[in-house]
Amino acid sequence: MENIDPKKILVIDDEPSLREGARRILSKMNFEVFLASKGEDGLEVIDKEPIAIVLLDMKMPGMDGMEVLKCIMALERGIIVIVITGYATVETAIEAMQRGAYNFIPKPYQPDQLRIAVSRAREKLEFAIETKRLQEERKRTLEDLHTEKSRTLTIIESLPNGVMVTNSEGRVVLINPACYRYLDIDQKKEPGDIKLEYIFKSQELCDLILDISKGRYIDYTDIPAHEIEVNNKKFFMVRCRPVMGERRECLGAVVNIVDISTMKAIDQVKSEFVAKVTHELRSPLSTIHEQLNMVMMSNMGENRGEGSEDQYILSRAKEKTKALIATIGDLLDLSRIEAGMAAKDPKPIQIDEILKNVGDFLNARAVAKNQTLTVTTPENPLPPITADPMAVESVFGNLISNAINYTQEGGQIDVTCDLAGNNIRVKVKDNGFGIDAKYMDKIFERFYRVKNDKTRFINGTGLGLPIVKGIVDSMNGYINVESEVNRGTSFTVLIPIKKTSIGIM
Ligand code: ADP
Repeated sequence: MENIDPKKILVIDDEPSLREGARRILSKMNFEVFLASKGEDGLEVIDKEPIAIVLLDMKMPGMDGMEVLKCIMALERGIIVIVITGYATVETAIEAMQRGAYNFIPKPYQPDQLRIAVSRAREKLEFAIETKRLQEERKRTLEDLHTEKSRTLTIIESLPNGVMVTNSEGRVVLINPACYRYLDIDQKKEPGDIKLEYIFKSQELCDLILDISKGRYIDYTDIPAHEIEVNNKKFFMVRCRPVMGERRECLGAVVNIVDISTMKAIDQVKSEFVAKVTHELRSPLSTIHEQLNMVMMSNMGENRGEGSEDQYILSRAKEKTKALIATIGDLLDLSRIEAGMAAKDPKPIQIDEILKNVGDFLNARAVAKNQTLTVTTPENPLPPITADPMAVESVFGNLISNAINYTQEGGQIDVTCDLAGNNIRVKVKDNGFGIDAKYMDKIFERFYRVKNDKTRFINGTGLGLPIVKGIVDSMNGYINVESEVNRGTSFTVLIPIKKTSIGIM
C-alpha cells in the first residue's frame, strides 16, 4: 500500500480508440492516467510508477491479460485491477476474479459503466488506506502506552522520595526502592505480601491510607500530613493522596515519604540555641528593668521628676526592656513546647471554668477599651479533660488578648464553648480589624505580625499564635481561623476529650 498513489491509474488495452476514450473519462475524474498498448509495457509502467488502479484488457496479442494479472498480483502492492472482457469470455472474467481482480467490465462498455466501476475501486482503495492508517495508529498508541508505562515505572523506581501505592481495596501494589530503604522493609518481600500495618506502626495512618484507597477522601486538599519516626533515629513526613481515574473514580492511594531527619536535627539545634540565648538574656534584662525602675523612683521629688526629659527617656527604656522580657518569656515557652516538655503537670480540668477565669482576668483590659467581653458556657458542665491548666490558660489567654488588641474601641468579643462529637470546641470571636486572607497561613509563624495602619502601634511579640498552635498540637487538638477584613476574626479550637492532653509551663 506504500507504493501506490490513489490518483494514478493505468489503462492497458491494445485498441487505441478504447485507450483514448478511457483517458478522457478518467482525466475528468481527476486521475493521472497512464496508457499502455501491451501487457509488457503496462508492467513496465507499474514498475516505475506507484499505480493504484489498472484497467486491464483480457484479450491482447502477445502477453494476454491473465498473464499480466498474475504478475500484478504477485507484486502484492495492493493494486486494484478491473478487467475488461468481451461478451464471450464470462469464464475468463470469473477466473480473473478468482485470481484477484477486483471487478470486470464487459466489452463494449458505456462511459458510465467505466465511471461506476472505477469510482467503486477508488472507494475501496480509500477505505483500505484508511483502515491501514487506523491499524497503524492503534499499534503506535499501544506501543506508546507500553513505553509510557515502563518509563513512568522507571521514574518512580528512581525517585529519591519514598513512594508506595495501594489499590482501591487498600492492598499495597507498588513500593519503590527508596521506600523499602526508608522504612526498613525486608527487600525480599513483594509489595502484594506486605500489609500496611507492617509498614506503618501508627494505626491512625494505616486507617487514613485505607480510607483514601476506598475513595473516602475525594477532596484531598485537607488530608493531614503525618510525621513518623523509624528506629528512633530517622524522621519522615508522610503525605497521602487518592489516585483518581478518568471518571473521577478512586483507584487507590499514593503515599509520598520524605526524609526530614536533617531538617529536624537543624530545627532542634536552632531551638536549643534560641532557648540557651534567651535564658542567658533573661536575668540581665530583668536586672536592667528593675534598676531603671529604681532610678526613676529616686528621681521623683527632684526636679528631674515626672514630666522631665530624663524621666521620659528612662520610661521609654523601661518600656523597651519590658517588651524584650515579654519576647524572651514567649521564646522560652515556645522552646519548652518544641522540646516536648509536655505534660508537666497534667490533671483533670474543666475548660469552661478556665475560660471564665481568663475572661474575668482580661475583662479589665476590654473595659479600658470600652469593649464588651462575654464568656458563654453550656448549662451542664463540660466533661473534664486531662491537661496542664497553665497551658490551656495560655492558649485562651493569648486568643482573647489578641481579640482585645486587634479590635477597635467599643468592639465586641464573644467566647463560647460546647461539645462537638468527641471534642470540646471553643470559639473566640471578635468584630475587629480582621486578617487579610493572604496573611492567614503566616500568622502562625514565629515573629510574624501583620503590619498595617491599625496594627502598627499595638505591642506584641509575634509569638502568641505559634505558642497557641504548639500547645494545641501537643494536645492532639486542632485550631482554625476565619476572618474578614474590618468585619472580625473567629478562632476555633477543638480539644479531644479522650486522648490525654498535655501542657507545659
Ligand atoms: P502578636 O499578637 O504578639 O503580634 P500573635 O502571634 O499572637 O502575635 O499574632 C500574630 C498576628 O496575627 C498579629 O500581629 C495580628 O496581626 C494577627 N492577629 C492575631 N489575632 C488577631 C485577631 N483576633 N484579629 C486580627 N488580627 C489578629
